[in-house]
Amino acid sequence: MYEPIIGLEVHAEIATHSKMFCGCPVVDLTEAEPNSAVCPVCAGMPGTLPVVNQRAVEYGLRVALALECEIAPVSIFARKNYFYPDLPKGYQISQYKQPLARSGLLNIRTADSERQVQIRRVHLEEDTGKLTHSDDDTSPYSLVDLNRAGVPLLEIVSEPDLRSAEEARLYGEALRNLLRYLGVNSGNMQKGVLRFEANVSVRPFGEEGFRTRTEIKNLNSFRALERSLSYEIERQSELHGVGKPVVQQTMGWDERREITVPQRGKEEEDDYRYFPEPDLPPLVINEKWIDEIRLNLPELPQAKFQRFQAEYELGAYDADILVAEKGVADFFEALIKAAPKVSPKLAANWVTGELFGLMNQAGAGLSSLKVSPQALAGLLDMLVDGNINTPTAKTVLAEMFESGQSPEAIVEAKGLSQISDADHIANTVSQILDENPEQVSKYLGGKESLANWFFGQVMRATKGKANPQVVKNELARQLSSRS
Ligand code: ADP
Ligand code: MG
Ligand code: ZN
Repeated sequence: MYEPIIGLEVHAEIATHSKMFCGCPVVDLTEAEPNSAVCPVCAGMPGTLPVVNQRAVEYGLRVALALECEIAPVSIFARKNYFYPDLPKGYQISQYKQPLARSGLLNIRTADSERQVQIRRVHLEEDTGKLTHSDDDTSPYSLVDLNRAGVPLLEIVSEPDLRSAEEARLYGEALRNLLRYLGVNSGNMQKGVLRFEANVSVRPFGEEGFRTRTEIKNLNSFRALERSLSYEIERQSELHGVGKPVVQQTMGWDERREITVPQRGKEEEDDYRYFPEPDLPPLVINEKWIDEIRLNLPELPQAKFQRFQAEYELGAYDADILVAEKGVADFFEALIKAAPKVSPKLAANWVTGELFGLMNQAGAGLSSLKVSPQALAGLLDMLVDGNINTPTAKTVLAEMFESGQSPEAIVEAKGLSQISDADHIANTVSQILDENPEQVSKYLGGKESLANWFFGQVMRATKGKANPQVVKNELARQLSSRS
C-alpha cells in the first residue's frame, strides 16, 4: 500500500471588466466573436507597454487575504519565455521569485474530519490565447483566439498536503466556493475560468520525504481531477511495486479512455529564462489598502459553517450544504428570519431536501428560482400551524416552484386547507362510529388494531384534509366513551 502525496496548482481567471495589462474587455469566449477583444498590447505588438490593472490586484489580494496569506509589500512581475502560438509576445508576464502572497491555508472537510491545507503561494499572471486544433488529419490546422490573451489570472499553489484523490477534489471544491464568495471568479468550469493541475507522487506509508512526481495538466472538472488522480496513484503504485521508476513528466487526462497519457518531459525552471519584466515597476502594496480590503471581506464559507452550527444548532452535514454557495446561505437566513415559528432544522430539511430536489429535477439554479424565502416561510408557517399536513405542503411547494404563486393562494384555490376545526372532526368521527357498530364492538372487545381502520375512514371522509393529530385524539376520546 502506498500513500498518495498531492499538491494542486489552480488557475483562476479574475472576473475584472478589462484585461491584466491593457484596456481590452474580458469577454465570454463562448459568445464573443473570436479576436474581437484584442489590442496591440495583448496581441504582442512591438513597442507597446503593459499597465497593471489595479482591480485585478485588488481581487488577487482579496483571495490571498481570505486564504490568510502573508502579502508581499513588494512583488515583482517576471517574463516567462517560451514560444507557442497562443502567446504572441513570446513570453508570459507572471510573478516568479517574489509572488503577491505566500503561506496561506484552506480548510477542507472530509466526511469525518477537518484538515488544514497549506497554501504555498498566490501570484498574478496573464492568461494565454485559446487554441482550437482541427481534427482533420489530411490538412490539419489550428485556430487562435486572442480574446483570452491577457485576461488576469491568479495562480494558487498548495503545498503537497493532500493525501487522496478525494481530498484533492474537496480542496478544489472549497477553493471554488471561496472564489465565488469573493466575487472573483464565477467558478464556471465548463467555460474554463477555473483550471486545475495536479502534482502527484506516492510513497510507502511511514516513509519520510517525497518520491518523483508527475503533473496532470488541464483538468477542467472535479470529476476529471479525482478520476485522473486515482488512476495516476494506481499507476505509480504498480510501478513502485515492481521496482520500476516513475518518470517525472507532464501528463494529460484522456477523458474518454479514462487514462493519463504522457505529454512531455517536465520542463525545468531554467528552460523559461525567467527575468524581471523590464516594462513594469515593482508592484508596491501599502498596508492601508490591505487593511481596507481585509475589512471588506464578506463572511467566508468556513466562518459561516461554524456560525450556522452554533447559531441554528444544525449538524455539520446540513451546515456544509447550506454554506457551499453564498446565495443558498442567504436564502436560508432570509427564510429563518421570515419564519420565526419554524425550527432551523425543519427549514434546512425543506431547503436541502424538497427545494433542492425540485431544482435538481428542473436543472434550475438559484437565480431563476420563483420561490422567495418569504413565500417558503409562509408555507412552513402553515405547516407548523397545522393548516396543512406534510404531503400537502410538498404538493404546494411543487406548485409554487412551477408557477411562483404564493402558498396561501394555492391552498385557497385548491381547497387544501387542513381541517382542524374540532366540531367538524368530532361530527365526522361520531358519524363513522355510528355507521360501523360491528367494528366498534370488536374494537371494544380488544381488537385495538381497528383504531387505524377508523382513522383511515375519517381521513377518507375528510378527503385527507383533517388534522391527523386532532382525528386521533377525537377517535380515542369517543371510542373510550362508548365502552
Ligand atoms: P513547478 O510545477 O512549477 O515545478 P513546484 O515545485 O512549485 O512547481 O510544485 C508545484 C506543485 O507540486 C505544488 O503544489 C507542490 O505542492 C506539488 N509537489 C511538489 N513536489 C511534489 C511531490 N513529490 N509529490 C506531489 N506533489 C508535489
Ligand atoms: Mg507545475
Ligand atoms: Zn488588449
